[in-house]
Amino acid sequence: MIMTKDYKEIDLDETNVKDLNGICDECKKLDESVSQNLILTGFKICYSCRVSKTIFPI
Ligand SMILES: [Zn+2]
Repeated sequence: MIMTKDYKEIDLDETNVKDLNGICDECKKLDESVSQNLILTGFKICYSCRVSKTIFPI
């Protein structure tokens, strides 16, 4: 009944930023693409790991 989706997305973004240290869960390397992938895909992985897994081809 009430559109809560927007609020949820904002909350998630804030949580992501707080939890964000930019370190890939797969290879443990620090990479700025980790934060982008976390927001885009929900997976805390770097670009190269994402490509190698090919879970979310964009
Ligand atoms: Zn990685």
